[in-house]
Amino acid sequence: HPHLQSQDPELYSLIIAQARHETDTLKMIPSENYASFAVLEATGSILTNKYCEGYPAARYYEGNEFMDQIEQLAIDRLKALFGAEHANVQPYSGSPANQAVTRALAPPGSKIMGMPVPAGGHLTHGWKVNFSGMDYQTVHYGPRPDTGLLDYDQIRDIARRERPRMIWVGATAYPRTLDYAAFAEIAQEVEAYLVADIAHINGLIVGGVHPNPVPHCDVVSSTCHKMLRGPRAGFILSRIEDRWQRKYFPDSNLNLAKRIDRAVFPGLQGGPHMHVIAAMAVAFKEAATPAFRDYARQVVANARRLAEKLLEKGYRLVSGGTDTHLLVMDFRDAPYSGKDVAQALAKAGIIANFNMVPGDPRKPFITSGVRLGTPALTTRGMKEPEMDRIAGWIDTVCRNLEQIEEVAPRVRAEIAELCRQFPPPGILI
Ligand code: PLP
Repeated sequence: HPHLQSQDPELYSLIIAQARHETDTLKMIPSENYASFAVLEATGSILTNKYCEGYPAARYYEGNEFMDQIEQLAIDRLKALFGAEHANVQPYSGSPANQAVTRALAPPGSKIMGMPVPAGGHLTHGWKVNFSGMDYQTVHYGPRPDTGLLDYDQIRDIARRERPRMIWVGATAYPRTLDYAAFAEIAQEVEAYLVADIAHINGLIVGGVHPNPVPHCDVVSSTCHKMLRGPRAGFILSRIEDRWQRKYFPDSNLNLAKRIDRAVFPGLQGGPHMHVIAAMAVAFKEAATPAFRDYARQVVANARRLAEKLLEKGYRLVSGGTDTHLLVMDFRDAPYSGKDVAQALAKAGIIANFNMVPGDPRKPFITSGVRLGTPALTTRGMKEPEMDRIAGWIDTVCRNLEQIEEVAPRVRAEIAELCRQFPPPGILI
């Protein structure tokens, strides 16, 4: 960034420091990744200059001929990627996307059902400190503390009893395949909207290693970053017609697709971030390639291998393993907490996060879990042999929590050496 370097050296040096950090350490936060140079170039392009409130061919500003084409390209690529009838690419991020979805389906005060944050749900699925928990009546479900798995009979019972207007399916920390068909049956029975939040597993779905919720759900929301390796942004997919129109919106002449669009703009947002939408189009093109399918398969293969090796070393994992890109180590029985382990891992160069586990006796800022993900490592080209080494380092850290200050520098040096063999894309230093 030559201009940034000369004009604002203070900020430039901070960016370079972060780039070094992301190069020399193992990025194992499952929601993080490395965007390509092409995605970064679009995000940093002149498209940041333009206002284009509205939607393609229906703008409130002039001079949008090329912007219309850019947004349409992103929409068309996204629809093709997921086989969706309708797509909105304007949400600024995953949380605003979920806010728009909720407003499009349920007026404030309605009853919505989702997983609470400690069980692995997202803030926007009805958590008390978020708009979704403050403005809506919320009903919770979650994995069973004994198995770490969702129990679909239990979910059906809660839905029958509570009769929510909409049901969220999606999580930030659930390591197993979600059964969208089972959720669809429940939603049909209780006459609720079914919304999948695929922010974490978007890339697994595109890569064909996790089922696609689009055929089963009224609406699907997502981020574009995380596994999809796009810019920080959100998107919403939906059916065009609303199957519950007569029940819930008898007086509206807007179909589901139109209500979603109106909820995003002008309901919640103003001008779309066109530099970001352009970068989304680039990411969608990258995700439609055979190379991306191979990537998604390897993400899961790596997570499985890491899980296997940790189990072999005697560690407990939530649900006993993983089908996805993440796993959650379960330290409920240990004298140390998830936070102790996550902080020690960071000292050694493994960047992860502490996380609640189902049935966690510890507080949310302490926790008994550590969440680990493989998307970013896999983007760097790491495979099973590297996962074996990483399992070894995690074990070394957990065994030496008391002496971490002495042990961490050695582990960190070994990790830096591995990192040099797998330079991440999108970073040149
Ligand atoms: N939904 C899920 C399941 C998530 O994990 C996240 C991000 O952590 C979001 C939504 C929100 O995305 P953002 O952080 O872009 O607002």
